[in-house]
Amino acid sequence: MPVYEGEVLQGMLSLDISYDELLNTHGKLAGELGIVDTSHLSLPDNAMRQLDLELEGVKGSHTLFYQFDLAKETRNFFIFERYSLAVVIFIYVFSVIVLFFINTRVEHDYFKELAAKDPMTGLLNRRGLKAFLKTVQHNDYVALAVFDIDNFKAINDNYGHDVGDVVISHVADQITINIRHSDVAARIGGEEFVIYMSGNDKALLQKGMSRVQQAIVATSADAVENGFTISGGVEIVTKSEERGFDTLFKAADEKLYQAKTTGKDKLVF
Ligand code: GH3
Ligand code: MG
Ligand code: MG
Repeated sequence: MPVYEGEVLQGMLSLDISYDELLNTHGKLAGELGIVDTSHLSLPDNAMRQLDLELEGVKGSHTLFYQFDLAKETRNFFIFERYSLAVVIFIYVFSVIVLFFINTRVEHDYFKELAAKDPMTGLLNRRGLKAFLKTVQHNDYVALAVFDIDNFKAINDNYGHDVGDVVISHVADQITINIRHSDVAARIGGEEFVIYMSGNDKALLQKGMSRVQQAIVATSADAVENGFTISGGVEIVTKSEERGFDTLFKAADEKLYQAKTTGKDKLVF
């Protein structure tokens, strides 16, 4: 490169740059840095970030550039970011596993509840009632009643199945309204219901069952014109006599049969 002062040639400047060493990034860059004298050579196709080199205001014809190589960039990314990637993958896998378990838990509870409930009335079904009785802590007395709507077939025949369904829902609602929080009701067949109560006073349990039966009959005209009646059999035993659902149900069902064969619209204890 000629150097002038005014119009006078001062001499030639020659730079011998060992740019292998200068541009060595010790592998921290994926591509390579290069310098090319553009008055003789052209830049490679993948040259990026070109910078024309100047020396103390003297512009030469050398250009610094970076050689971009996608495959190398990608490989470098995975090498340099491997710890970050490992953390991201760990968090992802961990989240998936946690979400999977939460989802399984929610589904499990949902299907468990679904399997224990009667969809039409929201009361428990037979399975739900049995499961409840296995875990409940009784008081001194246990009362189990089986209620069965009187002449229900006639309601279906006279007013249609839809009205029959309304009557069933009405009974379920009245039972729910008239029992306490600790009592439990189930629909165990088409128009048959079971009520569980527990307490320390036998007479109060009888009163409680009668109150439910009377409330259903008293409001029955809300569900179907002319209303309807319902009968029930109620078995009350002490806690120590309690032998599980099947035994209680059988005894209560026999009393229901007595109620049905002696005029209906009543409870037999
Ligand atoms: P009883 O006074 O002796 O109990 O006579 P009933 O007519 O009520 O008894 P029965 O067992 O002869 O009739 C029950 C009827 O209930 C028969 C069936 O068609 C009807 N049923 C059962 N499940 C449903 C239901 O989900 N919806 C409706 N609408 N009817 C039902
Ligand atoms: Mg029946
Ligand atoms: Mg009936």
